Amino acid sequence: MIISMKLHSTKQEVESVCERIRERGYKVHSIEGEERVVIGAVGVGDTTNILESLEAMNCVEKAVRISAPYKFVSKEFKNTRTQIKIRTHTGEIEIGGDEFVMMAGPCSVESEKQIMECAEAVAATGAKVLRGGAFKPRTSPYDFQGLEEVGLKLLAKAREATGLAIITEVMSDRDVSLVAEYADILQIGARNMQNFALLKTLGSAGRPILLKRGMSSTVKELLMSAEYIVAHGNPNVMLCERGIRTFETVTRNTCDIAAVAALNELTHLPVILDPSHATGKRSLVPPLARAGVAIGADGLIIEMHPCPEKAVSDGAQSLTFPQFSAMMKDLAPYIKLWKAARATELAAV
Ligand code: PEP
Ligand code: MN
Repeated sequence: MIISMKLHSTKQEVESVCERIRERGYKVHSIEGEERVVIGAVGVGDTTNILESLEAMNCVEKAVRISAPYKFVSKEFKNTRTQIKIRTHTGEIEIGGDEFVMMAGPCSVESEKQIMECAEAVAATGAKVLRGGAFKPRTSPYDFQGLEEVGLKLLAKAREATGLAIITEVMSDRDVSLVAEYADILQIGARNMQNFALLKTLGSAGRPILLKRGMSSTVKELLMSAEYIVAHGNPNVMLCERGIRTFETVTRNTCDIAAVAALNELTHLPVILDPSHATGKRSLVPPLARAGVAIGADGLIIEMHPCPEKAVSDGAQSLTFPQFSAMMKDLAPYIKLWKAARATELAAV
């Protein structure tokens, strides 16, 4: 059950509603939005006339029962798209709105020269967000683990030089506040999608989150993980399809492209497609990127590198700069159609 408080309700009014919910045996999760407080009542409690009794309170706007196990992130809770705004020093980026958002950069931040060159190549195409891993989840403990805080500082320098927003991975709840000092968006990698301690900490990270789908996770599990972050106080979550593990070996992972459309039916959160990790092969990135635009993703996250054969991680799936800019040109007419469709949809709301 979700209870929306009237605009600008007082702390006392919120507490009076929480108290009534607790009396019925439910647990309370309240979320303070910019404009209003929303209270989630979870667990098993006495349902007799509860919606009516809550709506009878002067400070309550609406009380609704939600059948999906993921409450705050479901379409039942909110039928309009969540739009995530990021302020940069050259303007504002909105994810989930009327702009298709391109994020691109190397798998790992390797050096100042490398990340600066990437940032300039990304900015030159009109893309708005620079990716780059400073904390890297690697299968082998002997592989490059990332430049950590040095890498974060280099990303901040690249932002300074170009005005791009920064997205980078945080792997541990210990590092959330450090990474949030430097990054505009915190990426949660596939391997950490169900790191519940980390997800809870993200509730108070004060930054938007890009939550990647676990390689063996269902769409519902992805939504439950997003629910953790939102229920702990951070409504600014975007989801990312990056391919799942199947018997197929031609691609590194199997892109569950239909999951993008399914997510659009089930949740109001923005959905980003990662064609790089989904395929593992640079030749397959542009065609899958096109599919992502066509199916209605809100944006793409792409790996690129000044010299992919020398990349310390994920070189095989990284585009060269000329390939990246050719892909951006190739996508332009598709993005134009995307924008027209999105404008019609937003105007109808
Ligand atoms: C990455 O973005 O470089 C990465 C490690 O992605 P994933 O968590 O999807 O494997
Ligand atoms: Mn990578």
